[in-house]
Amino acid sequence: MFTKDGGPQPADFADVRATNLAVVLRHLRINAPCSRANIAAATGLNKATVSSLVTDLIGRRLVREVGMSEKSIGRPAMMLVLDGSPYAAIGLEVNADYLTAVALDLAGERLLSWRRSFAGASSAPGPAIASLAALAKRAIAKMVREERRVLGLTVAVPGLVDPDGVIELAPNLGWHQVDLRKSLLSALQEPAFPLLVENDANLAVLAEQRFGGQGSANLVYLAGGAGIGAGIIADGRLLQGNRNFAGEFGHLPIDPAGPLCGCGRHGCVESLAGLGALIRRALPEATVSPSEFGPQVDEIHRLAKAGDARVLDALAATGRHLGHGLSMLTNLINPEFVALGGYFTVLAPWLIPDASRELVTRSVAGAGGGTRIIASALDSSAAAAGGATHVLDAIDAGALPTP
Ligand SMILES: [Zn+2]
Repeated sequence: MFTKDGGPQPADFADVRATNLAVVLRHLRINAPCSRANIAAATGLNKATVSSLVTDLIGRRLVREVGMSEKSIGRPAMMLVLDGSPYAAIGLEVNADYLTAVALDLAGERLLSWRRSFAGASSAPGPAIASLAALAKRAIAKMVREERRVLGLTVAVPGLVDPDGVIELAPNLGWHQVDLRKSLLSALQEPAFPLLVENDANLAVLAEQRFGGQGSANLVYLAGGAGIGAGIIADGRLLQGNRNFAGEFGHLPIDPAGPLCGCGRHGCVESLAGLGALIRRALPEATVSPSEFGPQVDEIHRLAKAGDARVLDALAATGRHLGHGLSMLTNLINPEFVALGGYFTVLAPWLIPDASRELVTRSVAGAGGGTRIIASALDSSAAAAGGATHVLDAIDAGALPTP
């Protein structure tokens, strides 16, 4: 659902100008502070065009002047940086056991980061949407109090989200055919900014790419929780598929005789390598609560550090199942990195060795096609941060706020 916010097609001239504005903005994001002459030299745009574009960006309060450079040679030049202080991008996430909200300014700095426990797995869609809408209203109100304009809000959901923002299926929330976008638009009284709904891993991978320091054009983010969604950036683009249902890594079948999966089939990757399976292996006495993984993951982490043999075996087995699934991804799309996110991040040191061995053994390309499994650089707010990142990506792509 990344094409939903477009209005009427602009005329060619306006289109070229929007593209050039975005080029200048992206250049400043990476290279600021720089002068108009620096931008012209680096982008190939002529100086008069750059001057006009910068005037426009200053008018939109996306860029500001910060004073003259102190050059030892030549005339000093007025330096420019990203501004964006009057703006905010908001991301929300609903999951089986928590809700999160993140707001970023235009430069990607965090303006807020909230997390609250939430019994998503046992809530009907109605109350869940009401909780989500209340969180959205609080985040919007905080931004408005800080005199920021909200540029967009994107909601992350662990499930299949169609291009209209309808949740076709979210097994770990027990949702089926929930028109989340429409419900939220109505709860927020039809806001003036774009409100989108997207799969959680598809959003998290955008944040991993922007903030994880990998900057790769071939990257996978695995959202490790009750399920295991994958956000896939292949050849520089988010892989969405025909109806936006790509990336259901957790439901790759790897063992027909395996345990029953939340989707009703047997032996899917997440039935063998999801958090429920890991907890049953590592802490057989524990009751697996679908709405409270945190304490059990902390316990597994503590026992792994202490060298507990059963927990180490459980993590190794989980790693092998993950590696098996990842060998299929490597054979199909050959990513450079796979980032273990969600609850997997803290357990990554114990999952990666066996996952990597299995990946190499099962990949047709030598050395696993060069795919490296790493711990995600993001915390548990990854999908919400990804929601906000998605708004920033739209700005970078030329959907600039009007002055
Ligand atoms: Zn399944």
